[in-house]
Amino acid sequence: MEKIKRNILLNPGPSTTTDTVKYAQIVPDICPREKEFAGLMKGLREDLVRIVHGDLDKYTSVLFCGSGTINMDICLNSLLDEGKKILIINNGAYSSRAAEICDYYNLDYINMSFPIDEQPNLEKIEETLKSNQDISLVYTTHNETGTGLLNPIREIGETAHRYGAIFVVDTTSTYAMRPIDIEKDNVDFCMASAQKGLMAFTGLSFVVGNRAIIEKSKDFPRRSYYCNLYRQYDYFERTGEMNFTPPVQTIYATLKALEEYWEEGEEAKWARHTRVFDAINEGLDELGFKQVIAPELRSGLVSTAIYPDDENWDFEKIHDYCYEKGFTIYPGKISGTNTFRLCALGAIDKEDIDAFFITFKEALAKYGVSVPVKYNTK
Ligand SMILES: *Cc1c(COP(=O)(O)O)cnc(C)c1O
Repeated sequence: MEKIKRNILLNPGPSTTTDTVKYAQIVPDICPREKEFAGLMKGLREDLVRIVHGDLDKYTSVLFCGSGTINMDICLNSLLDEGKKILIINNGAYSSRAAEICDYYNLDYINMSFPIDEQPNLEKIEETLKSNQDISLVYTTHNETGTGLLNPIREIGETAHRYGAIFVVDTTSTYAMRPIDIEKDNVDFCMASAQKGLMAFTGLSFVVGNRAIIEKSKDFPRRSYYCNLYRQYDYFERTGEMNFTPPVQTIYATLKALEEYWEEGEEAKWARHTRVFDAINEGLDELGFKQVIAPELRSGLVSTAIYPDDENWDFEKIHDYCYEKGFTIYPGKISGTNTFRLCALGAIDKEDIDAFFITFKEALAKYGVSVPVKYNTK
């Protein structure tokens, strides 16, 4: 097996993969309608539930061909009954995307905004649920990837359930990294795609959720043909296959990635991501970079640093210098503040971050950015 050039991706996905996962895509051609392929997907669907410690009788997973946003679209448009309302707990770019999806489908929703650098106020959430008895679906994002803020899903889910609403969480940037227990965390539906925590490739996304609720949604309004959760679930249950062509090679890679996931183990994997995250923060702190999210509110996976007030700072140039040396850094996603992100996803470890900071410091020196970096306001 020839070694493939290793790039360290510090963007929020797709993530750095192992060569064994890369090579797992190279398989003899197969028609995905063969029984052999359906057999592979059965095991895969079960493993995706096991990752969040779900009981296989109560929870299931449904696969889709698309990037992670397809899961958001599917959950929002498929799980809302006629005459009911969605409550979006919104403190960042990804929950704002969910609100936009609601707009596209003309779904009745409340967009409950909170500051992007704060956890949402549970009392306000409760008040809203109390005064809007027609809310049947509460939605939020676990790790707001735009900033790296962690939302208290267990508490939000508990509140949602007390008011009879189901709880849907976008866990795309925590799944298979930060441990999740779907039942204990009061989550009815979570989601992810293969290119993030699982360290495989784009093209395969999946919703993990409560089977009884999916079955109940059979009678909900059908708002999309391709992106309907019940339709895909039902097809899987009857045939073991995806309704339409699956991303064949990505599925082979994901199976290999799952093998490596179990081999590494949930705890050890989370410890590794934490090592990487700590090294990122140490590096940023040492250089004097300010971050948007207070340390105690960070998800442990995304660091968002504020551009220094230095006329020589030019993100593009610093990016290009690092990129040439195999490190990818990523712009922020906050309006009004100029930021960049460094993420702890993927098959990387502390040594990679140490190597990155050597390169990053070279870039700062080359372009004359003073270190520690300066900010005008205190
Ligand atoms: C990556 C991500 C998505 C999906 O983005 P795609 O570009 O569609 O893959 C959705 N939600 C969160 C929180 C994410 O981090």
